[in-house]
Amino acid sequence: MTRDPRFDVLFEPVPVGPVTAKNRFYQVPHCNGMGHREPNGVAAMRGVKAEGGWAVVCTEECEIHPSSEVSPHPEARLWDDRDIPAQARMVEAVHAHGALAGVELVYNAHSAPNRTTREPPMAPSNVIVQAYDMVQARAMDLSDIRALRRWHRDAALRAKQAGFDLVYVYAGHDLALPMHFLSRRTNQRSDEYGGSLENRVRLLRELIEETKEAVGDRCAVPVRIAVDELLGEDGITAAGEGREVIEMLAELPDLWDVNVSDWANDSVTARFGPEGEQEPYVAFVKQVTSKPVVGVGRFTSPDAMVSQIKRGVLDMIGAARPSIADPFLPKKIEEGRVDDIRECIGCNICVSGDFLHVPIRCTQNPTMGEEWRRGWHPEVLPPKTSEDSVLVVGAGPAGLECARALGQRGYAVTLAEATEDLGGRVSAESRLPGLASWGRVRDYRITQINKLPNVEVYRASRLTAPDVLGFGFPRIALATGARWRRDGVGRQHYKPIPGHDQARVLTPDDVMAGTGAGATGPVVIFDDDHYYMGGVLAEKLRNDGHEVTLATPAADVSHWTHNTMEQHRIQTRLLECGVAIAPHRDLIAMDKNSVTLACVFTGKSEQLPAASVVLVTAREPEDGLYRDLVADPRALSDTGIESVTRIGDCLAPATIAAAVWSGHRAARELENTADDGEMRRELPEVLAD
Ligand code: ADP
Ligand code: SF4
Repeated sequence: MTRDPRFDVLFEPVPVGPVTAKNRFYQVPHCNGMGHREPNGVAAMRGVKAEGGWAVVCTEECEIHPSSEVSPHPEARLWDDRDIPAQARMVEAVHAHGALAGVELVYNAHSAPNRTTREPPMAPSNVIVQAYDMVQARAMDLSDIRALRRWHRDAALRAKQAGFDLVYVYAGHDLALPMHFLSRRTNQRSDEYGGSLENRVRLLRELIEETKEAVGDRCAVPVRIAVDELLGEDGITAAGEGREVIEMLAELPDLWDVNVSDWANDSVTARFGPEGEQEPYVAFVKQVTSKPVVGVGRFTSPDAMVSQIKRGVLDMIGAARPSIADPFLPKKIEEGRVDDIRECIGCNICVSGDFLHVPIRCTQNPTMGEEWRRGWHPEVLPPKTSEDSVLVVGAGPAGLECARALGQRGYAVTLAEATEDLGGRVSAESRLPGLASWGRVRDYRITQINKLPNVEVYRASRLTAPDVLGFGFPRIALATGARWRRDGVGRQHYKPIPGHDQARVLTPDDVMAGTGAGATGPVVIFDDDHYYMGGVLAEKLRNDGHEVTLATPAADVSHWTHNTMEQHRIQTRLLECGVAIAPHRDLIAMDKNSVTLACVFTGKSEQLPAASVVLVTAREPEDGLYRDLVADPRALSDTGIESVTRIGDCLAPATIAAAVWSGHRAARELENTADDGEMRRELPEVLAD
């Protein structure tokens, strides 16, 4: 297939200082939970992006000095020459596919508590560090500023030595020192680095000039900067100082990589912001500079990308999440395979890897973070090793991905789904407020399955053990999902909550099923799950007109969504739409008309009227079919069944990302038993200095 000519503009080369990007696709810096701890993992992951057609592939934040480190978040490092080989490995992987490699040098100031090195952090003024660490940053004097400039220059030279083509000066996200100098909130100095904007911009100007002077002969020097903090007059604004800074420095860097701050605003989830949301803030930049401008907006639609270019908003399409969900996005557009794009759903599970200090994962792309350690490629799977046919039961995210990947391997696959609809929990959950884009998990896989003549799909086919035994498929994968519990057992309760059989109890499955199972009267939601479900059901039921109280043993609603940078938005939305929130509360009893809540610290209890109680606690695997099948090993062997595998929520209820990953893994490992469960590890070099 050839590419649609209307996308030609996306494949024009763009000169950036002394280098040239081969097209307009630009993987902006993004964290990955591997960083300096897993350099092979990072190199392989970035190499796959380059292979997928991105013209520029950047690192995550790259620390330049031990006096500013964000451990335990594993970011890149160029503290000294010993860090060069790890970075060179990433550069080689990127260059191998004809892409340019960029490094985002960072000095984090008071956003880095220096938990490992114990160096007192430095900042423009005496300010407390952003995390709840018991340390303050000390104000830099002029000799500290001179030292910092020297460290930045030295790191730039090391970056050049590692082979990078673009060496950033980073002033974004309320994370980097030059931004803290710019900001009136954090810069209370009275010397030549404080006061007027001219003074506050001085450090950024010096860093750009010195980086260009050090490496500009061969490397481009981009600046990443937040032009608006979405804080109104308290912060930098696109109409005010954000614009003035770009005007003052307009032609100094080789490229402007612009966005809004902080990270939660830059990487807003789909629940709270649409594709292209940053345009109103960054649109002015191209009017005040002749240098190329990169911006992000969770762009997955090539038409939206073309529109950004044609309307003069951006010169290059920046992407972190769309490149994570589909590292081959540019190639697919180039080859006229737009409907093969695995579109980011905007869930921020990728961000949770960095927050939890583990390798990145992605709901849409199960191979993300697995490129090196498991050798998984997002587009290539090993061909089948036998003529065995496979029955996959259940078409939720696990079953769909398993059937798709097995089909790609060449197996004859039959996918049987109990209901008329494909998608399982994804279909149900994507009907909840703000989660429509989650349906992309299903849609991508159905599109792919429809292209595979060796995968047959049977809807409205609830299978029993005799059915399965009767078919004669030698390989069976059970992806029959899970159901929310009705008795309150979860984290807080190992035994059913008293009265659960008398109250009008609804599970999330009931609420999502809608008619006939809807809530009545005042509703109390007990959220002992702590991810999105309790909060989004509260929003839905409130929108439906109910009086809603959300009780949770945690300190705040949807607590786990701190890891997806949504918690503050969820709590704000619930408060604004009138949901009553009862934190630190356990649900200890219920009856027809009320619930009893108890303080998790003192045990002091109170009664609340409740016509319906929604229990968002634990889930029970739907594994009856599995148990029926394995109960009779003889019947299995008599019918020639070689393997029965459970995948996804039917094995262990977890996230949609986990279900997709589980289905993918089962497909990849079918008949590849030698590698089952094996994973390469990055071992510390114990003999290194
Ligand atoms: P997962 O997240 O693991 O993919 P889901 O709960 O989303 O799980 O999907 C499970 C799917 O399996 C649902 O669509 C459900 O209708 C289907 N299913 C459950 N039991 C059977 C069965 N016995 N036969 C066919 N399909 C089934
Ligand atoms: Fe997009 Fe979610 Fe994947 Fe992140 S985890 S890239 S937000 S689909």
